[in-house]
Amino acid sequence: MDEAAGGAKPVHIMGAGLSGLAAATILAKAGKEVHVHDIRADSGARFDGDFQALENWSMDVDFFDQLEAWGFDASTFRTTEFHVVDLIHPDDEITQPKSDKVAYRIVERGTSDHAIDQGMKKQALEAGAQIHYKSRVKEEDCTIIACGPKGTSAVAYGEIFETTHPNHIAFQLNDKLAPGAYSYLIIVDGVGLICTCLWRKQSKSERFLNETIAWYDKHYPDLNRKPIKRVGGKGDFTINERYKQDGRYYIGESGGLQDFMWGFGMRMAVWSGVLAARDILGECDYETEVRKQLLPYVRTSVANRWLMNRVGDRTFKRMCKNWMKSQSKRGDGLVWVGGLFRPRWYKSLLYHLVTPFMLRKDPKSMGRGVRRMPFRKAKARDQWEPSEEASAIGTQWTEIRRSGGKTSFANDSDEASISSE
Ligand SMILES: Cc1cc2nc3c(=O)[nH]c(=O)nc-3n(C[C@H](O)[C@H](O)[C@H](O)COP(=O)(O)OP(=O)(O)OC[C@H]3O[C@@H](n4cnc5c(N)ncnc54)[C@H](O)[C@@H]3O)c2cc1C
Repeated sequence: MDEAAGGAKPVHIMGAGLSGLAAATILAKAGKEVHVHDIRADSGARFDGDFQALENWSMDVDFFDQLEAWGFDASTFRTTEFHVVDLIHPDDEITQPKSDKVAYRIVERGTSDHAIDQGMKKQALEAGAQIHYKSRVKEEDCTIIACGPKGTSAVAYGEIFETTHPNHIAFQLNDKLAPGAYSYLIIVDGVGLICTCLWRKQSKSERFLNETIAWYDKHYPDLNRKPIKRVGGKGDFTINERYKQDGRYYIGESGGLQDFMWGFGMRMAVWSGVLAARDILGECDYETEVRKQLLPYVRTSVANRWLMNRVGDRTFKRMCKNWMKSQSKRGDGLVWVGGLFRPRWYKSLLYHLVTPFMLRKDPKSMGRGVRRMPFRKAKARDQWEPSEEASAIGTQWTEIRRSGGKTSFANDSDEASISSE
């Protein structure tokens, strides 16, 4: 049991995001004095109203049942359930995997009252945790480290817009528009987000977003897109030798607990916060439980990412076809995608074979043995000239920005830095 559990000693948490707030809520409910410190002005300020998906396919249990079992109240934030997705193949064919079960839930990240970050904040405050915003603390002075990404392994850029289109989700595998990754469209209640993820580092990266938007404008003619703002963020993908060191717990993205293949991390963020709190309360051993409950999924995702780094549109097309074959055979689109995320012996073997080549040591990790997936270099095929439509979208955005349209790209130093070539 950590010494912080021993009685009146307050617990200091670095980071008031999903993982930090989850841990704070459980500890405060158990009567601990909890202080959560965040360098930003509010929870969720790392994001700016982007939509994210709470995946519900990587395991049999529904994430909301997990939340309830852990004592969280999911009604404190807005969620929109989806059972279907437009799967956009690299050759522009659009098909629809679907499920009778809730496939995923869309939540908003940010500082709006209905954002998940604010919902988690409300619960932490109600439990009695004290949150200190714009508070800079040292890692050495905190028991739980929950401050999100440190390095950059991948980035995502998106545009948020008003739309008259009904609620809709699309997921696109296209190596030109989203090198090594995917793009997506999310529409919830009149607000849309088109986002592209770059798993290879690019110059003039905004051309990828413009080209992706042009693609969606063409294939979804009823979007009536009225741009509001552009957003973005980075993902940090690490494997840690130790998740608890010198009495400190590394949780959420700070502990590398997220999916290397496609970047899903909210579920593991909350989960790891719960495990750290339980260890402090003397109910489990964090290191053991992370290795048992979360690491098999992270390792599987490392193997998946290694494979993804080696393929392009031909394999993406094969994946889409296999997904749809599975849909026709099983009548449930979650079976195929769930299988991709679930631990398997051969993925574990692949993980052990490839990690020495795939990850780089982080010398600044306070002896925790952190290995990071570097942001990969661009390939020759990533050099292309924007289409006329994409250039027009770039010009449209420049005008909107001049008249007050905001661009935010959150990085660890809290600065706005999306490039605006
Ligand atoms: C563009 C984008 C899209 C994504 N989409 C999805 C998705 O659809 N589904 C999904 O599951 N995951 C998604 N993710 C990943 C997901 O956002 C993260 O896995 C998750 O937010 C991690 O939670 P966390 O608690 O570790 O960090 P966060 O929730 O980011 O919280 C970290 C907190 O620490 C604070 N902080 C930073 N530095 C310090 C410091 N030095 N001191 C004190 N506080 C500090 C930050 O201000 C922040 O409030 C996405 C990520 C990005 C960037």
